[in-house]
Amino acid sequence: MTYPETIDALGVVDYDKWPVPSKFSYKPREFRENDVDIQIDACAICGSDIHAAKGGWGRPYAPVAVGHEIIGKVVKVGSKASSNFKIGDRVGVGARCFYCQNCDACDRGFENNCENKVSTYFGVDKESGVPTQGGDASHIRVDGHMVFHIPDSLETNEAAPLLCGGITGFAPLLDNNVTKGTKIGIVGVGGIGHMAIQFAKALGAEVTAISRTRSKEEDAKKLGATHFVASGDPESMKEHKGTLDIILNTSSSLSQSAIDPLVTLLRARGTIALISFPPADEKIELSAPTLLLPNLTVKGSALGTPEQTQYMLNFAAEHNIKPWVETFDINEKNLSDAWVHVESGKVRYRAVMTGFDKFFGDSRQ
Ligand SMILES: [Zn+2]
Ligand SMILES: [Zn+2]
Repeated sequence: MTYPETIDALGVVDYDKWPVPSKFSYKPREFRENDVDIQIDACAICGSDIHAAKGGWGRPYAPVAVGHEIIGKVVKVGSKASSNFKIGDRVGVGARCFYCQNCDACDRGFENNCENKVSTYFGVDKESGVPTQGGDASHIRVDGHMVFHIPDSLETNEAAPLLCGGITGFAPLLDNNVTKGTKIGIVGVGGIGHMAIQFAKALGAEVTAISRTRSKEEDAKKLGATHFVASGDPESMKEHKGTLDIILNTSSSLSQSAIDPLVTLLRARGTIALISFPPADEKIELSAPTLLLPNLTVKGSALGTPEQTQYMLNFAAEHNIKPWVETFDINEKNLSDAWVHVESGKVRYRAVMTGFDKFFGDSRQ
């Protein structure tokens, strides 16, 4: 059996075999009138995928296909999704596959904070109880509300990383009114940071890239940063003290040694926004005077709303924003190599699995 009865996937069958994925098939939940089925052409690797595949969030179920930066073509459209999608449309799916439209957050338009959200993988479909499966697969079945149109001028491989990493960096720029002249510091020139620098620049902000060492200074400036701070160098930190309106922390470390010095870079009334998941045992501690005397704000941000996500894709097309990607044709060895490469921190700056037609050929139209 192949699609539409079953969907072929490549993922974690045995967590103890990390980093070696295996091929498997799963039976998708029933097709509903709001759904679209997508034949997948590319899926980028988010840091979360590595964490999930290694069992870092426990082992909710196996087999599981990770991957939630998905681009593909629509191959089936439910009756209620047909006003927005047609067969052949190029579309994307991100880290969530369901918002309830019925909780306080959804009612207020903050769907990304939905109490009943379901993740694209490591989630359970509310109605059927079927565990969700991600994008390292031949197809995916998703509620059309969570599916986005990809503008023609974005290349498939370059659009994929926008679906999770891109919106994670872009939504807090919108939410914090980053605009012409805003002095923003972006911590971490990596998967999310390298996109956030481009977005902030396109919004007209004056961007300072902040990284431990100067090894990524040249890249940061190519991406649109005007200034560069080496946070491991006290002189560099002193030079930029009190210069920023907002700091976006994309780095996964929230350790005290990382946060305390960062806050000194803010001007009075500044904001530090945290957008990445640190190890579970890390907490932020700020003393009251540090926070009160300059009227600082600490904010968190998770992904973005569906409306912001579509806006981001259109904005990226309009402003020629392109994630820097390394591509790998999907198969057991290459997915394993790509996971290890991403985990090592050496990827510049997003790994994207491609060539789905070759690997999943039998099940495709
Ligand atoms: Zn992600
Ligand atoms: Zn909700």
